[in-house]
Amino acid sequence: MPDSKTKYVFVTGGVTSSLGKGIISASLAKLLQARGYSVTIQKLDPYINVDPGTLNPYEHGECYVTEDGAETDLDLGHYERYLDTPTSQANNVTTGRIYQYVINKEREGAFLGKTVQVIPHITDEIKRRIRLLEKTGNYDIVITEIGGTVGDIESLPYIEAVRQLKWDPEVDCIVIHLTLVPYLASSGELKTKPTQHSVKQLLESGVQADVLVLRTEHEINDEIKRKVALFCNISSDAVIESKNVETIYEVPILMKKEKLDQVVLRKLNLPLLEEPEIKPWREFVSRIKNPSKTIKIGLVGKYIELKDSYISINEALIHAGAANHLAVDVKWIHSESLNQENVSAILSELDGILVAPGFGERGIEGKITAVKYARENKVPFFGICLGMQCAVIEFARNVLNLSDANTTEIDVNTKDPVIFLMEKQKEITDKGGTMRLGAYDCVLDTGSKAHAAYGKAKISERHRHRFEFNNQYTEDFKKAGMNAVGSNPEGGMVEIVEIENHPWFVGVQFHPEYKSTVLNPHPLFVDFIKASNKK
Ligand code: GLN
Repeated sequence: MPDSKTKYVFVTGGVTSSLGKGIISASLAKLLQARGYSVTIQKLDPYINVDPGTLNPYEHGECYVTEDGAETDLDLGHYERYLDTPTSQANNVTTGRIYQYVINKEREGAFLGKTVQVIPHITDEIKRRIRLLEKTGNYDIVITEIGGTVGDIESLPYIEAVRQLKWDPEVDCIVIHLTLVPYLASSGELKTKPTQHSVKQLLESGVQADVLVLRTEHEINDEIKRKVALFCNISSDAVIESKNVETIYEVPILMKKEKLDQVVLRKLNLPLLEEPEIKPWREFVSRIKNPSKTIKIGLVGKYIELKDSYISINEALIHAGAANHLAVDVKWIHSESLNQENVSAILSELDGILVAPGFGERGIEGKITAVKYARENKVPFFGICLGMQCAVIEFARNVLNLSDANTTEIDVNTKDPVIFLMEKQKEITDKGGTMRLGAYDCVLDTGSKAHAAYGKAKISERHRHRFEFNNQYTEDFKKAGMNAVGSNPEGGMVEIVEIENHPWFVGVQFHPEYKSTVLNPHPLFVDFIKASNKK
């Protein structure tokens, strides 16, 4: 570490949302990490929910769960997949959490009769949260991504906190602003005016951007870069082009070519250290772009209209595909549209079937129908969380002949509650942050497919659910050929089920997708893709 002080990079966005601040932040972090710096990334979300745990996936996509059980924004998934280091609760802060903390302190009387205000109390709390990572992680650089778009009312306290930090003699920081340079087909021109306005808008809040990253569909020439630099008070070497690419995994390579990491280090007065090769990363990208063949995996879920709802599963399939030199063509199948009549027509083209996590009744019978098809037709099957619970229900109904079998999430009065609520969960009434969340140990049976895939007997995986396999049924299931092959050593909860006489039928109560990264693809996903390829 060249300097003992943690330095900060803030990433803001302008012109429009969805420009990929998360991917730019993660790519920059990757390059700095490859140069030998210890880096982490944080996301500040301007909504009033305390965390995204209570949000419907249609709102903001998947809820990503960290080792310490925090329910967080999906961008943290990108951070972990790129950096291969775990994040925590401190890496995601929402306006709701900030206000909750400040209001609780006010109730305790901590402000000693003072009027509690946005400035300084809310902004102080934002700054405290930003600097929390410096204390916990011993990082050289913290990259903080500010959600939303500059000019949004919700983002103002965050931008104000950045302004204050820029003037704080104790803090070394820079601001990267990401904007869009649209192309007008009619005149054949790239337009920089929205960028100029957006930089000015940031300046109105007292923040001068230090680096500009321009998202574009067409190449931005030096003349345009010089023009942007001139109008936006930025040195022309700090105007970086970010052209659209085929896969998000190409962005670090692109940013290296554009020297984003070098500009950032120069502005932070840090040495460049070693030139990053990012060789394994390049190999991974080359595998995705040159697969030996393509296999089709059906992803059965009910939120498929918004693909971000299953982003970690989708990325884990890509990682596992690359590990097998294969491309994975994900067929998104709406669980509500599946029934006995159409199931064979829809699923017969697939090499493997993955039944996704979820909550509530909608689409659940379609998921159970998909499981039955996979079991009977010996198609490789991977059930995750609710997907595993559906596999258990299907087996109970159609193999054990317990026709009323169900999860008590759907039918509290079922005669055969094969999936149920454990006593501890019954007392809970609050919805936010009260599930079985975060990392739990699991011990695997030798001889199981899971054991072979992991290559070890003790694993740890992340959870996000309330309901559990009902251990009263374990023996009946075993006799009929579905085995509980992994369980939690402390509480005895069943974590993995497998069917014996099947090429690959694995249901997991946890979420393996959260732990799959570019350099460490998840063993179960890798094995599932391998089995699907054999089919
Ligand atoms: N709804 C189920 C439960 O709470 C499954 C949750 C999930 O799939 N993440 O147990």
